[in-house]
Order: sequence, then structure tokens, then C-alpha cells
Amino acid sequence: MPQDKGAIDIFGLLSDDTTESEKKKNREQLLAPTGVKELFKEGKININKYTCVGVQCKRCVDVCPTNALYWGSGEVGIIDDLCVYCGACVLNCMVDDCIKIERKRDNGVTEKFSKPKDVIMLQKTANTNKRIQRVQSVVMKPQDYYCKYPEAKLKPKTK
Ligand code: SF4
Ligand code: SF4
Repeated sequence: MPQDKGAIDIFGLLSDDTTESEKKKNREQLLAPTGVKELFKEGKININKYTCVGVQCKRCVDVCPTNALYWGSGEVGIIDDLCVYCGACVLNCMVDDCIKIERKRDNGVTEKFSKPKDVIMLQKTANTNKRIQRVQSVVMKPQDYYCKYPEAKLKPKTK
């Protein structure tokens, strides 16, 4: 059967026999159709098949935005190259510590989590940090303010 020239060779892209830069490029190509951006430098995900309730649940498979999780051979499988370590699966898992994720941010900070409440706390912290950065970007620093308005400087009290 003739091969569709526009089709992506997923198995070729997932091959282990590639250099790191090729892997990165292949990963970008695999993630492009999902429209999901990579926010973390690196990470790893692990699912405990002994605590997973499996067929009665499959919530992680349903919520994964990149289809990195699938149901096959009676358990949840992971396509590591498609995982962006977003934490949506952990947030929706009904069993604490069943899915474990470790991810590294661009600033070098490593985050480890395995419970829904961990994901919520990390999200709150990230939102707070974003708000602080936003305020800092629009509010003038005291030294800049006094440079611009030198008359605003407090004068020493005279007796
Ligand atoms: S962290 Fe979970 S939900 Fe997010 S991409 Fe990876 S497997 Fe999917
Ligand atoms: S959400 Fe958790 S318990 Fe449910 S199938 Fe996925 S890993 Fe298993």
C-alpha cells in the first residue's frame, strides 16, 4: 500500500537509536499536533500498576492532553516522549501516590508530586509568583522613583 507522504512516522520518531538533539526535535514534532506547549525542561513519570484501579477508572487516560497515556494489556501504558509533566493525570487520579511525577523548571527548580493536593498547591504557588512578577514589572523600584522624583525624598528633620 502506498504510504501517505504527509503522515508522521510515530514509531520512527519514538526510536531509542537517536541523539539527544534528534530526540528533542522528534518530541517537538510529536507534540506539535496536540498544540500543547512544553513548560518543563525535563521530567519523569511513573505509574504504580499495583495500586492503580485500572479498568474501573482510566481517568488519567481521559484527561491527558497529549495522549501520552493509553489503556493496553490490562494496564495504563505511558508513551514517555509525549508526556509534558503537566500533572493533569495526578490531579484526576483517585489513588494517592499512584502516579508519581518529577519535573524540572527552566530555573532549575525540581518539583515532585503524586497527589491531587500537591498539584493544586504547585499551581497556587506558580500563580502567586506570576502575580508578584507582574506587579514588580509595573511598579517602579524605590531607587528609580527617587531618581525620577528627587523632591519626594524625605528631608532630615531639623530641631
Ligand atoms: S503529566 Fe500526565 S496528563 Fe500530563 S502529559 Fe504527562 S501523562 Fe499526560
Ligand atoms: S487515574 Fe489513577 S487509578 Fe485511575 S487508571 Fe489512572 S493511574 Fe489508575
